[in-house]
Amino acid sequence: MFKINDNYLKLPGSYLFSTIAKKVNAFTEANPDKKIIRLGIGDVTQPLAPAIIGKLHDAVEDMAHAETFHGYAPDLGYEFLRSAIARNDYADRGCDIGADEIFVSDGAKCDSSNIQEIFALDNKIAVCDPVYPVYVDSNVMAGRTGTYDPKAETWSDVIYMPCTAENDFAPQLPEETPDLIYLCYPNNPTGSTITKAQLQEWVDYANKVGAVIIYDAAYEAYISEPDVPHSIYECEGARTCAIELRSFSKNAGFTGVRLGFTVIPKDLKCGDVALHSLWARRHGTKYNGAPYIVQRAGEAVYSPEGKAQLKEQVAYYMNNAKVIYEGLKSAGYTVSGGVNAPYIWLKTPDGMTSWEFFDHLLEKANVVGTPGSGFGPSGEGYFRLTAFGNYENTVEAVERIKAL
Ligand code: PLP
Repeated sequence: MFKINDNYLKLPGSYLFSTIAKKVNAFTEANPDKKIIRLGIGDVTQPLAPAIIGKLHDAVEDMAHAETFHGYAPDLGYEFLRSAIARNDYADRGCDIGADEIFVSDGAKCDSSNIQEIFALDNKIAVCDPVYPVYVDSNVMAGRTGTYDPKAETWSDVIYMPCTAENDFAPQLPEETPDLIYLCYPNNPTGSTITKAQLQEWVDYANKVGAVIIYDAAYEAYISEPDVPHSIYECEGARTCAIELRSFSKNAGFTGVRLGFTVIPKDLKCGDVALHSLWARRHGTKYNGAPYIVQRAGEAVYSPEGKAQLKEQVAYYMNNAKVIYEGLKSAGYTVSGGVNAPYIWLKTPDGMTSWEFFDHLLEKANVVGTPGSGFGPSGEGYFRLTAFGNYENTVEAVERIKAL
């Protein structure tokens, strides 16, 4: 008789966003006349920029002719895209990252969950709390997290680094030494950032204790302040301790198109073994590459027209962030984020729990957000709103919340 991987049975309850969807569906069925505004899930709403659409059409045409047809993509991605990434995302920011250190993929969610496969099962992970749930769940599936305490909603073998108003939502170096440190900046869900000097401390710490930082920079395009690093490789010494994850989902609207990449510098080693070769081996065995058409669309992100159009798109969402931030602040809410990230993190009013506030907002304002407790115990008493809606709906949602 076959046996299942019972690590999967350890996963608590249902996935956060399925619970939200169930609640919203039940409310919609009971109240079909109400207009619901969704500021919950971090999904974009603006159509793909014209430069990207144009490149997609061209690439489809390539596939129609024997001379320009493309089959399987190279394991690590097409050279045209990897060199555009190396030049624009790294060389232009003074980072020493070669095109051959970039692994193109179909997105940061897969990469952030798969990357743990190249590390030993007894490696200890450290995560921010609250956290993008994929980091923890993928380690649960692998069997790295010990036992679950349903009351505390924590895993025995995970080091949690609380990020609260008291520390300005920036984690302190942990007391217990981790092997793998997950950091995400700009942060989902809190919308916070750390300065280059703060990130340098983490890099120095990781090099000192022999840990690897898995740095998720999926929201890099939303950075507006000058002392916030766009890449961990802006810090000295990051080549020997950091893996960086990037996505085209939020900077270019590729959530339904799918494209991302992971950077593993060749200097990142465990003894003589380069993590780069392990991930290359893993990629070669388990992954057949992002589609040619999509990688061409990714190339358009770095064209002059693409850059200009995407700058406007990011500005559009960040204007929504401002509307939410300022609107809620003027209504007396305690809010943070929204300056270098498309997420606004607010303290629930009147001591409500995160889920109580979720129900309150859904029922009274017909607005959907995300309960902070869904991202970890330190998220309790907080709530996340996203700036990815359209402008008109965002304004209306804020007016409704103000009127509560
Ligand atoms: N990383 C973080 C921190 C995210 O918030 C998200 C999506 O919400 C992702 C990664 C997923 O990115 P992708 O769409 O490239 O899989």
